[in-house]
Amino acid sequence: MYVAGARVTRQRINNIRTLLVSENLDAVLIFGLTNIRYLCGFTGTDGVLLISADEIIFLTDARYTEQARDEVTATCIDCYKNKLKGVEENLASRHFINVGFDAASISVALFDELSSLTGDKINWIQLGTQLDPLRGLKEQSELDYLKAAATLNHQAFDTILPRIKAGITEREIALELEFSLKRLGGEENSFDFIVASGVRGALPHGVASDKVIHSGELVTIDFGTRVAGYHSDETVTFAVGNVDGNLRQIFDIVLEAHDSALSMVQAGLAVCDLDAIARNYIASKGYGGYFGHSLGHGVGLNVHEYPTVSSRSDAILSEGMVITIEPGIYLPEIGGVRIEDTVAVTAHGCEVLTSIPKQFRQLD
Ligand code: ZN
Ligand code: ZN
Repeated sequence: MYVAGARVTRQRINNIRTLLVSENLDAVLIFGLTNIRYLCGFTGTDGVLLISADEIIFLTDARYTEQARDEVTATCIDCYKNKLKGVEENLASRHFINVGFDAASISVALFDELSSLTGDKINWIQLGTQLDPLRGLKEQSELDYLKAAATLNHQAFDTILPRIKAGITEREIALELEFSLKRLGGEENSFDFIVASGVRGALPHGVASDKVIHSGELVTIDFGTRVAGYHSDETVTFAVGNVDGNLRQIFDIVLEAHDSALSMVQAGLAVCDLDAIARNYIASKGYGGYFGHSLGHGVGLNVHEYPTVSSRSDAILSEGMVITIEPGIYLPEIGGVRIEDTVAVTAHGCEVLTSIPKQFRQLD
């Protein structure tokens, strides 16, 4: 069963058409399935989208023509036997010359094949960073889906919380969460869930293992699901039994870094400055060397998308962007803490979409 994505709005196509003008292109060819879904609504796994000043042409194979008729917003839906031949024929019949394409979504081998088919008739222009911000500003319907996915996180977490105690394995927690999320209506996991307990907490990407959780350990769970293709992404860290003072201290530092960054989010703030708020606070407490990843990332139809919330980003927060705030401290052979919320940027602040309380909690 598939759930159709947010309704495709005119604005999305208009943004591509603005690119046609600014890059002096006759058409843009989109191979990446996420952008295809965003721009025409198609949720299948094979197809290509061609957008010109006055046409939106979706090409797919016979498996998907029925589905495409149901889902796709386009001026023309065409079926191909061979994808690259189909592309070449559609380009040739329209006499396009300058054609941009999403270079990150097609292999070198496939591109070589395509360009040898079209010969010197097409002047191919690689599009990269020009396309990145395309999905950056979320429309209301997208925010609603992101919020719905975040709500499922909270419900699933509350459902399984009574089962988390010393003696359960990380993998059992991950399975319980997945089962609960799917029963509540979540589509697929956003990623392999991270359940990292005790010393494994020092692994920022410690995928759930067979390790048994013991009393006196911190447990970090990073998980999410999808609603209509839109992801949730949230991390909680909590204690099972009494944890020692050092672990409690790093928890408090990470929570303060998280809270202070979150309180500064608003349209107009440079993303690198947001990263610095959390990073400088953690450094001021002496743990600067133990926060090795960026503060966050955009979330939408991909769980990681524009903008990257890091010191190297030149993006500026705008109303409608959805990003994560996820500082962490990871102490090798001791343990770690990460706390993550997903927020929607507003004119004067943000709306926090994820809702599991992040204050320190100790389970028995
Ligand atoms: Zn996460
Ligand atoms: Zn994240």
